[in-house]
Amino acid sequence: MIISMKKGATKEQIEHVCERIREFGYKVHSIEGEERVVIGVVGVGDVTACLESLEAAPGVESAVRISSPYKFVSREFKPERSRIRINGAEIGGGEFIVMAGPCSVESERQILEAARAAASAGAKVLRGGAFKPRTSPYDFQGLEREGLELLARAREETGLAIVTEVLSEQDTDLVAEYADILQIGARNMQNYALLKRLGKCSKPVLLKRGMSSTVKELLMSAEYLTAHGNPNVILCERGIRTFETATRNTCDISAVAVLNELTHLPVILDPSHAAGKRSLVPALSRAAVAVGADGLIVEIHPQPEKALSDGAQSLTLPQFSAMMDDLKPYLRLWKAARAAAATVATQ
Ligand code: PEP
Ligand code: MN
Repeated sequence: MIISMKKGATKEQIEHVCERIREFGYKVHSIEGEERVVIGVVGVGDVTACLESLEAAPGVESAVRISSPYKFVSREFKPERSRIRINGAEIGGGEFIVMAGPCSVESERQILEAARAAASAGAKVLRGGAFKPRTSPYDFQGLEREGLELLARAREETGLAIVTEVLSEQDTDLVAEYADILQIGARNMQNYALLKRLGKCSKPVLLKRGMSSTVKELLMSAEYLTAHGNPNVILCERGIRTFETATRNTCDISAVAVLNELTHLPVILDPSHAAGKRSLVPALSRAAVAVGADGLIVEIHPQPEKALSDGAQSLTLPQFSAMMDDLKPYLRLWKAARAAAATVATQ
């Protein structure tokens, strides 16, 4: 259930509503909207009595039942898009945010070259794995702490924010010390212990869709993060497993449109893992812009043929720069569409 308070509702009225909710045995989760206070009510059982009592409370505009199993992340709960601040940038607002970098941090030279190219082409966030989830235990597992330090050095030089994956609960404090955004990879999307741990973290989370997960399961995982205290969640479609073998995964572009209907959280596309092949990345990136994604996360490498992971899907640095140039006319349309949608939403 969500309770929307009237514009200008007083502190006392809000506190009274919260008290009544607790008296009924439910939990309160309040969100300060730009315009008005919205209060989320979570609990099991029939909420009818609580809903009817609160509808009549002073300062309450409306009390609505939320039908979906995910509450805090649903559009019913919060109709306006969530904007998430990362260093100087904002995702989910009027800016299409590009995150770019190598699959893995491999050396100082590699990450600095990639970071400089990412920044000069217009990316706002540098990606790079220091803890790598690899199918084979014999493959490169990441530079761990050293990788994080190299990312921090690249941030210092370029001003880019850093997104990097956290593989397990025990690494969370270490990764959070360095990262601006904590990535939960596809393989960990349903690692509930990790989700609960990152719910307690103050850094935004980039939650990638599991390769065999439904959109609903992705949203339920996002709900874990928000219900445990972290509302700053960015969702990422990165391709799913299907019978098709022409691409590494099948880019579920419609998932972006579906998510935009169902949730207020920002949604980005990872065309690199979806395609598995660098020649397809620019086309999928254009699709992300057209479908209304909030941004991209793209793999780039100074020498993809020498990459320790995912070289085949990594763009060279000049290819990335060319792609960013090619996206410009599409991004002008994206901006106009975003601005028009924002105007309609406030009418
Ligand atoms: C990655 O971003 O390099 C990665 C491992 O992605 P995913 O979890 O989507 O496979
Ligand atoms: Mn990768």
